[in-house]
Amino acid sequence: MPIAKGYAATDASQPLVPFTFERREPNADDVVIAIKYSGICHSDIHQARNEWGFSKYPMVPGHEIAGVVTAVGENVTKFKVGDHVGVGCFVDSCVGCATRDLDNEQYMPGLVQTYNDVEADGKTPTHGGYSDSIVVKEGYVLSIPGNLPLDAAAPLLCAGITLYSPLRHWKAGPGKKVAILGMGGLGHMGVKLAHAMGAHVTVLSQTLSKKEDGLKLGADEYYATSDPETFKTLAGSFDLLICTVSAPIDWNAYLGLLKVDGSMVVVGVPEHPVPVHAFPLVMGRRSLSGSMIGSIKETQEMLDFCGQHGIVCEIETIRADQINDAYERVLKSDVRYRFVIDIATL
Ligand code: NAP
Ligand code: ZN
Repeated sequence: MPIAKGYAATDASQPLVPFTFERREPNADDVVIAIKYSGICHSDIHQARNEWGFSKYPMVPGHEIAGVVTAVGENVTKFKVGDHVGVGCFVDSCVGCATRDLDNEQYMPGLVQTYNDVEADGKTPTHGGYSDSIVVKEGYVLSIPGNLPLDAAAPLLCAGITLYSPLRHWKAGPGKKVAILGMGGLGHMGVKLAHAMGAHVTVLSQTLSKKEDGLKLGADEYYATSDPETFKTLAGSFDLLICTVSAPIDWNAYLGLLKVDGSMVVVGVPEHPVPVHAFPLVMGRRSLSGSMIGSIKETQEMLDFCGQHGIVCEIETIRADQINDAYERVLKSDVRYRFVIDIATL
């Protein structure tokens, strides 16, 4: 079995520690990847700390993986040694399904998450990108366009696709007013992508401290949600509001910012249930929806879109021994805008 080096959470309350483990033997349809960079998603923190209640330990987090192919199985046709590739949030899907729904596979039963899950055999734990290698079936490996640097491209594999998918689904584009709530890892990608799609983009952030960045990245307007005037000024303004926040907020107040027929789409995943009143929904035929990452097909489409538009994430590269400090800084919204681990420092 190939041996991998990484960083793991060993229980919900302890810092992550160096960890050595076995990767599975590659099969004929597998791609072996030397991981170069791994983004730190807020979901890694939720799961390392068991905030969603289904964590398994030891856990090697990381689902924003960018690396280089080092070997391919005999049946692999799409990749060769040396290719720049990515792995996102899942490494198998629709296990046992007669048909794999390529457009919606992230919502199908049988999805195997890149970490904190078990492989299709029902027993081998999956481990993520805070490690130096991974073995993944060809169908779940993404091609990273040659003009995108691997470090800044890594977070596209989750932060990028998580915003790209709802922006496409709700048809963000010219003439549409889109609000992005939370200027964090996901939020800043929402600004760049919605701007590139031609929508009018407004950032709703707790304060104006990141306003200059937001406008530079493509926002047309920027408001502080700590100012009650914001909710009066922007009432009934947006076709689409994407909420990337997982902290407690008043969802009813944000529903009031939608136009008639507008949609608020939840991508941030709070630890606790959220009270929602009927009034802001019925008074405007508004919708409250959710969205989770994207299919492999759509993730490749997003990477190609980013390649064409020269879009990558704004990153702060860290050493592996800074992961625990980085977690604390993410919790304080003190990152511009994604931490990426340089795997060479493991
Ligand atoms: P992040 O970088 O921490 O960004 C979250 C942003 O929320 C912060 O930058 C901050 O923006 C805002 N925020 C933080 N505390 C707040 C508070 N008390 N009140 C109001 N706003 C607050 O996290 P992320 O990596 O973007 O992930 C965001 C959420 O999405 C997490 O729950 C994560 O698990 C989830 N997620 C979901 C999917 C999916 O498929 N649906 C995929 C990936 C991640 P400002 O500083 O601008 O206020
Ligand atoms: Zn993520």
